[in-house]
Formats: sequence, C-alpha cells, structure tokens
Amino acid sequence: MRQRVLPALISVLLLGMALASAQQRDARDMLTRIRMEGLQRSGALALYRTLTDEIGARLTGSPAHMQAARWAVDRFREWSLANPHLEPFEFGRGWQLERVSAEMTEPRYMPLIAYADAWSPSTAGAVTGRAVYVGDKTAAQIQAMAGQLRGAIVLTHLPQAEFVAGDRPQPGLDERPVATGNPALAQARSTVPATELMMLLKQAGAAVALRPSPYRDGTVGVTGNRATLSDAVPSIVVSGEQYNILARLAAQGRPVSLRVELRTRYFEEDRNSYNVIAEIPGQDPALRDQVVLVGAHIDSWHTASGATDNADGVVAVMEAMRILRALGAQPRRTIRVALWSGEEQGLLGARAYVAQHFDTPAARDQLAVYLNDDPGSGKTLGFYMEENRAAKTIFDRWLEPLKDLGATRNVIEGIGATDHVPFNQAGLPGFNVIKDFDAYDERTRHTNADHPERMSDDELKQSAIFMATFAWQAAMDDETIPRMVAK
Ligand SMILES: [Zn+2]
Repeated sequence: MRQRVLPALISVLLLGMALASAQQRDARDMLTRIRMEGLQRSGALALYRTLTDEIGARLTGSPAHMQAARWAVDRFREWSLANPHLEPFEFGRGWQLERVSAEMTEPRYMPLIAYADAWSPSTAGAVTGRAVYVGDKTAAQIQAMAGQLRGAIVLTHLPQAEFVAGDRPQPGLDERPVATGNPALAQARSTVPATELMMLLKQAGAAVALRPSPYRDGTVGVTGNRATLSDAVPSIVVSGEQYNILARLAAQGRPVSLRVELRTRYFEEDRNSYNVIAEIPGQDPALRDQVVLVGAHIDSWHTASGATDNADGVVAVMEAMRILRALGAQPRRTIRVALWSGEEQGLLGARAYVAQHFDTPAARDQLAVYLNDDPGSGKTLGFYMEENRAAKTIFDRWLEPLKDLGATRNVIEGIGATDHVPFNQAGLPGFNVIKDFDAYDERTRHTNADHPERMSDDELKQSAIFMATFAWQAAMDDETIPRMVAK
C-alpha cells in the first residue's frame, strides 16, 4: 500500500511545488511590472504639482480641501477604480484666509512675515496704531491697562528666546532610537497663560493680538483651533525674529507703530467634512471581503502648500492605486484607498472611518491591514511596526524586493500621532511608513515653508512603488497580519 501511495503523494507534492513556484513567479512578475509602470509611466509628479501648486493649502472645512477631495475622486474615476466617493463625517464650520498684511511703520518701515491662526475672525478693516506690549505683564497689570488696550494692536508674548532646532531622529538608516509621537518643540511664552490672556484682551476690546513664531529664520509655524469664537480677538503669528524687534522696542517704551489687516471667512452651510474612498475589488471568493487599506491625509494647515504634510503621502497612495489599476491587477483581497480629512484637528477622518466601518468584531475581521503614509519626506524606507513582532516578520519579507529601491528596514517601535492610530486603538493592524525628517520638524511641518521642493520626482516615484508593492503583497499573501492587542 505504501508503495502505491508514495508515488501518487510525490506527484501531488511536485505538482503543488510547481504551482507554488508558478504563483511565486507570477507574484515576482507583478512586482517587476509595478516597478516598470511606476518608473516609466509615473503620474506622481503631475499629481504632486496639482496638489501643491494649483490647489495649495487644504485646511479641513475650507473650499480648497473640498476642491482637492473632488479632484481625487475624479482621478480615481478616470483610472476606473471601483466606487470612488466622498464619505462625510461631522466636523463643524470651515474657514478660509482671504487677506493678511502686517507692517511696522514706526520707527521705520518693515513688512512683517505674518499669518493668522486658522479660525481667527477678521480685524475690523485695517488697524493702525501704537503696539502695546503685554508679554511681561501679569493678569492684574493687563486689567489695569484696559484703557490703553481698547482697539489696540497687542504684542502678547515675551520675545522668543528658544527656537525650534533640529529634527527627531529617523530610524530607517541606522540603529538610532525611535521617537514615538510628535517631538516637543519650542513654544511662544507669555506671563499669563494664552487662553486667559486672550480672554483679558477680549474684555478690554483689543483689535488684534500678535505673537512670535518659535521657528527660526522667518519661518512661521501656525495651526489654529476650530472652536475659536467669531467674536474672539483676531490672532496673528509673526516671524520670531521680527516679533522680537517689535517687542524689545515696545518693552523699552520706544514708539512702535503697526498697520495690520486680516480678512477671513467662515463656512457654515455644510458642517461635514469628507474622506475620499475608492477601491480595486478582490477576486478570491474566500478573501475578497478582506480589505487592504492604504491611506494618507489630504488636509493640511493653511499657510503654505501642505507639501510634506502631506501631499507627498497622498501622491504615494494615489499613484500606487493608479499603477495597480493600470496593470489590470486582480488582487485576492480588496485594495482600498482612503484620503483622510481632519487629520490636523485630531485624526478626525480616520477616527470617523474606524467608527463607521469597524464597529463590530465581524467588521474588524475584514480589515487585513492599514498602511499609512504621513510624517516626513523623501524616500520611503520601511514601516514602524507598533510593537507587533509577528507582523514585522511578514513585513520584513515584503520589504526585501524593495531594498534595491532604497528601502532599508522596518523598526519594531511605533510612531504615533497620525492616521494609523485610530486603527491601533480599535485593535486593528495599522502601520505608518518611515521617511526622512529632513528639516520636517525644524522647518516644514505646520509652517509657511511647507513647499514642494522637499520631494524630488525620484522620491515621489519610489514612495508610490513602495506603497503599491506593499499593498499588492498584502492583498496576495496566504498569511494575514496578526491582530494588535487593543491599546
Ligand atoms: Zn500635520
């Protein structure tokens, strides 16, 4: 009996090995084809130019964000992805910067590099007059100055002594420590805490508040609070070095006259914002309900082009989808793309998506993996593995075919502070790429210097090929990524 079964067994095994190697060959072929499409017919640079040069800053709730989201839906439709659409979540009112100008007119003329906090109200036209410095005053002293503060341009903070210097370490190239979460950066400082200070200025009827940017060399870092009231004191951030000139002169009692005009607009009609979703449906009857999700946030802050934060990530995942669709990819699992909104206000789009789509154990079982492309710029080097050792073994295997394109290593630590976090919090496997922090923390992130020169055409292509290669392998692999333990 053994003699008759053995040859049959051997031939079944041989057939299996032949099939397996044919499958492996097909898989390898596909990786080669992804690379050829991504290098020779890349659409990455054109996508990047549209997002950064033509649309520019894409603040959540602003018309520019909607323009970008609709543009992305149109691209997905043009590439024949399945079901391209916008998915709403409640956000609140939108805001747009329409005009800001700030100038010193006495003791000499000096135009100021200045931007409004997002959601700041407008000034009442152009405001001119002597600057009043309160950076070193106590709350009681500020209250006593009420007469002087009515209708005034107020310098609210101390001269900026400490500036943002340097980037967090980037762990993709060597064994440097991994910094989880955003790095602690220098901040503007005032004697009275900022919220209390702004209330005191409002009570006094101040016209506009100016404070310094903690970034160097004319770089202005600005975000904003969407809960800002329409009758708050308008608030503007001035480059640190220029603010220091104003504050030092005013603190010495030297006359400093300014002219400041800020015009902003709120949008109340639609209190939703929108994620952009599209997909390539899976083909394997046993696996097609499983989803490999790739994503990046398309919203940005409002003072520059949102280039490193996060047009480069958006381009990587959009172009990855274009590549796969252009090759007629027939993945076993569904490959879905998400362009999140509201990341900058607290990962709101990704949080809403997880709440809307992964609210039951059965639904959560369908997410194979989430791959996010956000902090940093330059080439993609690997992934932060969020302490998921079993997943790292699989990701290390998927990284191998990308090593000659500049991929280096996955690190076991997490990164935090971007759109994979809501997935992790729901116990789902979500990971973010490792990219360079080449002046990202020091210069571009959330500043008026976030412009497209930080990414080259080659880096955009590489990042897209990287994401397409990972998405494809995740959609085809026999193994599934082990679940995270809910944090
Ligand atoms: Zn950001």
